[in-house]
Amino acid sequence: MAAFAVEELTALFGSGFGARLRPLAASAWGAERLACGSYSHALPGHAAARTILAAPVDDRLFFAGEACSAEDFSTAHGAFEAGVRAAEQALSCAAVRGRCRAPSG
Ligand SMILES: Cc1cc2nc3c(=O)[nH]c(=O)nc-3n(C[C@H](O)[C@H](O)[C@H](O)COP(=O)(O)OP(=O)(O)OC[C@H]3O[C@@H](n4cnc5c(N)ncnc54)[C@H](O)[C@@H]3O)c2cc1C
Repeated sequence: MAAFAVEELTALFGSGFGARLRPLAASAWGAERLACGSYSHALPGHAAARTILAAPVDDRLFFAGEACSAEDFSTAHGAFEAGVRAAEQALSCAAVRGRCRAPSG
């Protein structure tokens, strides 16, 4: 895996580039018993379904996680931003019902 990555990067950035690289760590995601190296994805032509997945239900259930991000799915920052958005939605709905203050900013 590391040799393949170095080969690809050397092809992109020139023959001297590979000498500047050394592997630091690698995941064994492919060997993980339950996930088996899998990744979530939207089928071609169905990316808009992420917005449906992320939509609150009855202003009481709020969804977060990378799959709810229309722009940054499959990433840690997409998951984080979806979580912040879901929390803000929950606070806004609770504020409308008079259960807490609306989020500031
Ligand atoms: C090998 C690998 C490398 C990656 N590298 C990068 C990278 O370099 N940069 C990047 O931005 N992203 C990377 N990602 C993607 C990033 O890790 C994910 O997009 C992100 O972690 C998704 O966050 P999440 O909160 O949506 O889901 P998760 O991080 O999967 O969190 C879901 C949580 O819910 C828990 N859970 C599941 N079912 C239940 C249940 N029934 N009850 C209670 N808890 C439950 C799980 O245990 C888990 O803790 C990588 C992913 C993998 C697999």
